[in-house]
Amino acid sequence: MKNSTLIFATNNQHKVEEIRNIIGVAFNIITLHEAGIDIDIPEPHDTIEANASEKSKTIYKLTKHNCFAEDTGLEVQALNGEPGVKSARYAGDGRNFEPNIDKLLSKLNGIDNRKAQFKTVISLMWNDKEYLFDGIVKGKIIKERRGKNGFGYDAVFVPEGSDETFAEMELDEKNNFSHRRKATDKLIAFLNQQWNA
Ligand code: IMP
Repeated sequence: MKNSTLIFATNNQHKVEEIRNIIGVAFNIITLHEAGIDIDIPEPHDTIEANASEKSKTIYKLTKHNCFAEDTGLEVQALNGEPGVKSARYAGDGRNFEPNIDKLLSKLNGIDNRKAQFKTVISLMWNDKEYLFDGIVKGKIIKERRGKNGFGYDAVFVPEGSDETFAEMELDEKNNFSHRRKATDKLIAFLNQQWNA
């Protein structure tokens, strides 16, 4: 593996596509699958930061290769930050988007305050040290799903500055606004600094 290659510790193909679209060809990102690693990394902690760390440290220990992981949560103001760190398993262990959205919409039924934000934390393991980068996008949860693109809660989230849900946007458009974009930009700035030093 070349030194300029970074492993992205995820099995989520949507995240891989989004991050590759942001990073372009500047850096060589390979997935767990491409690195020949078949593992379902646990997310046992009660913060997004700790889960991101767990994932990157697990893969770093296994491979001794520089790598990064990300964890994301949807934080809804009227639900005191729920589903937050539980976003993937909000409606149970199935990790299925549709029941998670159903549960969210039913909890918000009759509530006027629809303010929400996505928060992403990237944990980078770089030459034995960890670096964290975060990204937040504020927006609101609408009452019914709109759009077919994206994944997760995209069909019910409208970011500030747009009238469309993330699921109505093409990948490039989502990447203009997104939490993942903001965190990845910080990662890219760090990598540029390191590799050009
Ligand atoms: P995790 O980071 O894989 O644990 O994801 C947490 C949950 O948030 C999952 O249910 C994802 O589907 C959802 N999620 C993560 N990122 C996004 C996103 O960019 N848009 C919509 N939902 C997301």
